[in-house]
Amino acid sequence: MPELPEVEITARRLDAALRGVEVESVVAPGVNALRSFDPPLSELPGRAMAGVGRRGKLFLIDFAGDLTMLVHLMSAGRLQLFDKRAGPRDRTSRLLVRLPEDRELRLREFGTKQAAWVKLLPTEAVFDDEVLATMGPEAWPDPPPFDELVTGARPLHSLLRDQRVIAGIGRSWVDEILWHARLSPFKRGDDLALEEAQELRAETIATLGAALDHYERVIGLPIPDKLPMPLQVHRKQGEPCPRCGAKLEAVFYEDYVMTYCPSEQTEGRVLKDRRLSRLLK
Ligand SMILES: [Zn+2]
Repeated sequence: MPELPEVEITARRLDAALRGVEVESVVAPGVNALRSFDPPLSELPGRAMAGVGRRGKLFLIDFAGDLTMLVHLMSAGRLQLFDKRAGPRDRTSRLLVRLPEDRELRLREFGTKQAAWVKLLPTEAVFDDEVLATMGPEAWPDPPPFDELVTGARPLHSLLRDQRVIAGIGRSWVDEILWHARLSPFKRGDDLALEEAQELRAETIATLGAALDHYERVIGLPIPDKLPMPLQVHRKQGEPCPRCGAKLEAVFYEDYVMTYCPSEQTEGRVLKDRRLSRLLK
């Protein structure tokens, strides 16, 4: 769930709260969460936190002495600051950064999968990490022209979520962006007219920026488990389109749903439901 606006607001709040705070200890109860071994986590106690930033959907937590922790929440992770330490039976904890006065920066993960991960790296090596090295430009606030960026035979819904093409957009915000741009999720990148590419870029910036403005107004510390995402169409299939009133439709995939307005995005066509067609095979 956490995409660019959710990660950005979290990074801003954590940065303001943690800059200059010294680490007491670090433990990783989630055995699969730590994906690096050199330098070890034991390098962190005694170092001050130097800032919390973001690249795409990842956090970059800098520590004094040029170490950086890369954190990927995947689909169900959260990075939260608490005034009390986690109890021994807290099964959501993947990584705990213990701070003075019993405060704790906690990487948590909900659900049964352990997919969220952390790497501790020398700061100079962070952007050589395979995930960051292959990441496309930021979707917000100033991505390059989309007629050069969002190209190829794949549909827009797939291109915009591909972090190597453009970084920060996932399953929720892609629906919102395409709805704002009145474009079909199945239109191919190569079939975008220049004006459509320009419109799509403008709506990408505006949609993500508006979400962030919303979070700036409503989100403080502690960051809640579930952010109040200001979504207008995603997962609202069956409800009227907030703009034209037509019934919103959806295509269901194995692990996500794509919602759109048929009247404004697909010239009235209702796209084939992949879930149904698979069951009928
Ligand atoms: Zn509509």
